[in-house]
Parts: sequence; structure tokens; C-alpha cells
Amino acid sequence: MQARAQPTSILDRYQRVRIIGQGLTGSLLALHLREAGIPFIVQDTDLPGCATSVAPGIVNPLAGRNFRPPDYVDELLEQTREAMDLVERILGVGIWTDCPILRMFAEPTQQDRFQRSLADEGAAAFVSEQYPENTFPYLNDVFGSFLTIRGGWANLPLLMSRTREWLREEKLLVDEAWEPPENAPADAGPEAELMIFCEGWHVANNPWWSFIPHNPAKGEMILVRFDEELPRDRIFNQSCWIQPIEEDLWRVGATYSWSSFDSNASLEGATRLQENLQYLTGAHFHVIDQMAGVRPIVDDYQPVIGRHPEVPHWYILNAMGSKGVLQAPTAVRDLLDHLRSGSRIPRAWSADRFL
Ligand SMILES: Cc1cc2nc3c(=O)[nH]c(=O)nc-3n(C[C@H](O)[C@H](O)[C@H](O)COP(=O)(O)OP(=O)(O)OC[C@H]3O[C@@H](n4cnc5c(N)ncnc54)[C@H](O)[C@@H]3O)c2cc1C
Repeated sequence: MQARAQPTSILDRYQRVRIIGQGLTGSLLALHLREAGIPFIVQDTDLPGCATSVAPGIVNPLAGRNFRPPDYVDELLEQTREAMDLVERILGVGIWTDCPILRMFAEPTQQDRFQRSLADEGAAAFVSEQYPENTFPYLNDVFGSFLTIRGGWANLPLLMSRTREWLREEKLLVDEAWEPPENAPADAGPEAELMIFCEGWHVANNPWWSFIPHNPAKGEMILVRFDEELPRDRIFNQSCWIQPIEEDLWRVGATYSWSSFDSNASLEGATRLQENLQYLTGAHFHVIDQMAGVRPIVDDYQPVIGRHPEVPHWYILNAMGSKGVLQAPTAVRDLLDHLRSGSRIPRAWSADRFL
């Protein structure tokens, strides 16, 4: 008799995957599982502070103070493109918009840092134009500006709502909160499921993942309409970003706060954003709405992927931080490769780094 082949994939041991949380991360994971023909179910309920349902989804390859692209930027961008294609193919809706980003320098020393990054740190591949001070009459560009290319934005609220509709139609959604048990369930039997926790910032309340140094940050945004016409073919960025969205609306954000974690709009948040906006453009605007969400972040600002140290059929896929659209697609791929072929999760993103 022929010996039974050893299962090559961790997934073969389980009846199906159960994804806890259907924000950007859980949605992308579900769509990839569908593409790969792997059985799954998603458990999600609308808890306060969800990031994906409000976030602008901007991908800026030169975000940050040093104008330096992140490590492996080409790979990250390629994975983002592939993930967006997959989402659009399965859901049949446009999610991604290519959009350059006009970054204004906030002070003269930023010019020097920018020039260093252009010369030695890889920024040149992402810059199409540099502008001297006071080029744009409607902007406060007193220290000059430059145009970042190869970025854009993903319509995350649409991605999330359409994925939810699709899951409902396919009867793959359990709309209730997952409650952490006191004792870990057994990793055996015909009903065993592989659990993947994509809980966003709520993972900070999950005692089973408390060994990870969670550090979530709330962010607020306002939706505005300008009295004057501003060019809608770019995102403006400095102390805040100003993003053209549907019709004549613009989204402006975002604040950072480490003291409360909910979806509540605050007067303080609205005031700060309006002040920033007034500083960047003289154009008159009206605030139409305000929204807030919580970024899932850990102390070292890197994603967290990996197996639970005591419960072998529990995995985490979290902490996409402020760069969900750039990081989540590669993180999903890394986890799926690991589950399918046992490949190593890169140390910088592995949950093991906290053990
Ligand atoms: C203000 C703001 C601005 C941002 N700007 C950008 C940007 O410009 N570009 C960018 O790329 N990223 C940005 N981000 C970050 C990005 O939005 C996040 O990294 C990403 O959306 C996180 O997705 P997630 O699925 O991990 O978490 P979430 O979107 O928070 O989703 C988690 C889901 O899990 C559910 N859930 C949690 N626990 C349970 C449970 N126990 N049972 C059932 N359901 C549960 C929640 O209700 C929620 O639906 C921003 C975030 C914020 C808040």
C-alpha cells in the first residue's frame, strides 16, 4: 500500500480558515483565499474605531520626514497593484486611483534632506518635478515643493463595504463579535479551524495577543468643499494632506492621538485640521463632515504576522499602521506563503520578534 503523503500545507490540516475582522486586512485575506480556492469564513462586527471604513488609503512612496522610500518599496508597490487588481476583478468595482502628490516643504532645512534623499537614498525614482518657492498662487509653498509619482489612493470604505456585500451574498459572513475564551480550544478534530486574527486596533483588547506591544493611534479627518476651484489631479501634502475625492469634495487629515480609541469626532480635532488647512491654502472652505478611526500600530511601527506561541492554530495579521494599503497586500502574501509552503515570515514583520 502506498504511504499517505505528508501534508505539505499547514492549511491541509484544517476544515477551513476563520478570519476574525473584515477591515482592509481581513478583506484582502478573504479575497486571496477565494482566489486560491481555500475554504474560509469571516467573522466581523462593526466595533468602534475601525480604520478601513474611514481611511483615505493614500500611498505615498516618499511619506515621512526624510523623504526616503521604505525598504523594499518596489515589491510593496507591486503587491499593492496586484491586490487592487484582484479586488477589482472579484468585486467588479474600481478601487484604485493613480494620483501624484504635491509635497510642500515646511521649512528650509527640509530642502537639504530632500536633496540628500534624491542623491543617495532612492527618492529620485519617485520625483517627477521640483518647484521653486511660491509657484502655486493658491498654496502656501514658500519653501518650494515637489511632485511625487507612483502613488495614489485606494477607496478603502468602498473596498470594505463591497467585500462585506460579497461575503453576505456568499453566506461567508458571521456578523457577531468573537469573544476570547478563557482556555484555548483544541487544535484537532474534523471541525478544527485555522483562525487568523485581523482585528485592527481591537487586538489590543485581546488577552491572547497581549505579549505584543500594541500602540494604536486615533486619527481624525474632515470633509470639505472649497469656494474656489483647486486642481483635482493631485493630492496636496505638508502638515496635513488634502485629497480630492468624489464630486467636488476633499478629505483633509489626519490627526494623531494616543489617548482615546473610538470613532468620535472631537472639537479639538476639527480645530487643528481647519488651522492646518488654512495655513496651507488661502482658499475658503466649508466643513461638511468629520470622521475618525484608529490605526493599528505596534511600538516599532512594522506589521505583525505569525503564529500564536501557545495555540498553534491561531495566527495574527495586524499592525498595518498608517500604511495599510502599501503594507497589507505584502503581509497577506507573506502569511499565505507561510501557510502554504512553510516559507519564513521576514523577521522584521514576524510576531516572533516580541517573544
Ligand atoms: C485617520 C486614519 C488615516 C489613515 N490614512 C491612511 C492612508 O492614507 N493610507 C494608508 O495606507 N493607510 C491609512 N490608514 C491606515 C489604514 O486605514 C489601516 O492600516 C488599515 O485600514 C487597517 O486595517 P485592518 O483591517 O487591520 O483594521 P480595521 O480597518 O480597523 O478593521 C478591523 C475590523 O475587525 C473588526 N473586529 C475587531 N475585533 C473583532 C472581534 N473580536 N470580533 C469581530 N470583529 C472584530 C472591527 O470591527 C473592524 O471591522 C489610516 C488610518 C486612519 C485611522
